Amino acid sequence: MISVEQALEKVLSYVAVLGEEERPIPDCLGQVLAEDVSSSIDVPPLDNTAMDGYAVRSEDTRQASQQSPRLLRVIDTVPAGSISSHKLKPGTAIRIMTGAPIPEGADSVVPFEYTDETQRNASPGEIGILCQSEAGWNIRQAGEDIARGSLVLSKGRVVRPQEVGVLASLGRSTVKVVRRPVIAILATGDELVDINQPLPPGKIYNSNAYSMAALVQRYGGIPRLLGIALDNEDSLVAKFNQGLDADMLITSGGVSAGDYDVVKDVLAKHGEIAFWTVRMKPGKPLAFGRIRGVGKAATARYIPHLGLPGNPVSSMVTFELFARPAILKMMGKKNLAKPTVDAVIEDSVVNKDGRRIFARAVVAKRAGRYFVRLTGPQGSGILTSMISANGLVIVPEDKARVAAGEVVQVMMLDWSEE
Ligand code: AMP
Ligand code: MG
Repeated sequence: MISVEQALEKVLSYVAVLGEEERPIPDCLGQVLAEDVSSSIDVPPLDNTAMDGYAVRSEDTRQASQQSPRLLRVIDTVPAGSISSHKLKPGTAIRIMTGAPIPEGADSVVPFEYTDETQRNASPGEIGILCQSEAGWNIRQAGEDIARGSLVLSKGRVVRPQEVGVLASLGRSTVKVVRRPVIAILATGDELVDINQPLPPGKIYNSNAYSMAALVQRYGGIPRLLGIALDNEDSLVAKFNQGLDADMLITSGGVSAGDYDVVKDVLAKHGEIAFWTVRMKPGKPLAFGRIRGVGKAATARYIPHLGLPGNPVSSMVTFELFARPAILKMMGKKNLAKPTVDAVIEDSVVNKDGRRIFARAVVAKRAGRYFVRLTGPQGSGILTSMISANGLVIVPEDKARVAAGEVVQVMMLDWSEE
């Protein structure tokens, strides 16, 4: 049995950063930029007003106050998106709305609140300025956000909503990013029935394929569901052959030591096993290697195959530990680790057989400290425990017992804002 670290190292050594693609910007969320992005324009393109008000020459407002307003003649109104054809001459003002370009001759904008506009129904052709303005007041300068020619986003940056917004502000409709991995997902087991089918006696619904597909999507990959394979070589090979153009094949089930656990045998026969069994709980029976097609489907290309255990919790936990970092690496990401926090544990945990335990748990912050308690029974078939859990308490393999009150490391599955 190898350690979690050795297993992860092996998995990562079998996957590489994928090629790049040009994508519409709304679709790039979570992808990694494959180009440096520079700006061909100034943002904003022109000096414009940050407030609704009156564009003035500050020298025309000298000594203005509530008691002695400076009266200016209003010669135009400019909404955002228009340019005034007027030049401001001494003694004049232009009514202007947020975002509108500053008219020629004006050097500042006096907000409505500092004018007597609301009391001015009688003579709308004039405006009283109630305070002294300074040059530059309420003016957003051309290029103050992004200067033309500057490097705005560097290759390697992960696209978040703000990057999408900045790309749009440059007028970019597409951008080069590392492509998303296609992950073929196969559930295995004679007992499995697909959702939307009646449930015959002795059968269970295939839940793993769907939790796997959702995890793939959450971490930025594209899931491709291959359906269900039966526990025999022919059925498995037929399904494997359908998934070989993917970037990775993930199966669930069939990797333990039972009579019908043939996934690892098929992997050994038609590919190569890199490891089988990891010193962890849940998730000990985990097979990893690479595989290629059989018969007519045989290609020179092997694809990495992660054979996750069938128990629904085990497959989710091992996905987080091994499939997630592989997907992130293929996407060009550098930070592959899930966040962890140190928390005071409120339960005790016994570690009987020297494996690393990942116990489903609930982390909460109280008075600035993290506390964690287990979700309850830790059977690896109890999938609803993953609903209550927001983290996994990590008990090291060399620690036989964790007592309540000790500080433990917790791998966070979710942060509260999700
Ligand atoms: P296995 O790893 O194939 O021995 O399966 C271990 C346990 O997980 C068995 O109780 C299976 O019935 C269950 N299991 C396997 N695959 C799935 C699946 N796709 N959905 C739900 N449960 C499964
Ligand atoms: Mg099985």
